[in-house]
Amino acid sequence: LPNRPLAVRVAPLGEGLVLLVADDRSEALRVDETRRDFVANITHELKTPIGAISLLAEAIADSTDDADAVKHFAGRMSTETARLNELIAQIIALSRLQSTDPLLAAVPIEVDDVIDDVLDQARALADNRGIALTHQRSSEGVVRGDRNHIEAALRNLIQNAIAYSDAGARVAVTTRLVHDGTGDWVEIGVSDNGIGISEADQPRVFERFFRVDYGRSRASGGTGLGLSIVKHVASAHGGTVTLWSRLGQGSTFTLRLPARQPDHHAEGTAA
Ligand code: ADP
Repeated sequence: LPNRPLAVRVAPLGEGLVLLVADDRSEALRVDETRRDFVANITHELKTPIGAISLLAEAIADSTDDADAVKHFAGRMSTETARLNELIAQIIALSRLQSTDPLLAAVPIEVDDVIDDVLDQARALADNRGIALTHQRSSEGVVRGDRNHIEAALRNLIQNAIAYSDAGARVAVTTRLVHDGTGDWVEIGVSDNGIGISEADQPRVFERFFRVDYGRSRASGGTGLGLSIVKHVASAHGGTVTLWSRLGQGSTFTLRLPARQPDHHAEGTAA
């Protein structure tokens, strides 16, 4: 095993013989390194809003005789606090996804109902930015899973489609049933004709804390964790998420989840 980190143990067997046991530590070291990177990234990401809040508090203390300035700094302080809250909520969501199996509490979920809820929540943001939202439904898109996780994944995809598009853009959500050699799937497409993602960046956008453009992500309240949450939700439900994109033309994220099998029909559907 050339160039592999090995942990070697030696056990004498008697009569001049020894047993050599070599454990390949590559995977364990990789996991360790990923964990260390994640903690370092979290520390860095938390320091940014905390640093801003502390500077804003000082600015307020220095401006007590200027009511307008106090109001301005206080407003920015609440934006930074909201960012901190969102970051902590996403870190918790990601760590829950990694430590529990969402299929343990799986219920049947009508995907189009979840999409309607997410679009309702996103409508104010889309209207604000002059972006049209459309939803084309399939007649029987039902999956089994954890509703909160699936809603979080769809919210991330739809909020991104809005955040990374300019005024006048369109965000289209579609669902359809797909039957292929590997099984029956509910396929959810979230398409935008926004800024797009270069081919070089496409493989990296699902990594934790990766942003193509830090400034734009921050301005839209992004944390860099949304797509890694989507990826974890997909794989925890036995599904996949894929990306088609062209710079300057737009992006389509496709989330495929296993369709509910017919023998579960008696269960009804989750509210
Ligand atoms: P963020 O919180 O920054 O949006 P995500 O993990 O959701 O983090 O996405 C990672 C990065 O991928 C974003 O910062 C952005 O650069 C890019 N991205 C995600 N969705 C889109 C999209 N629909 N169009 C263009 N770029 C996108």
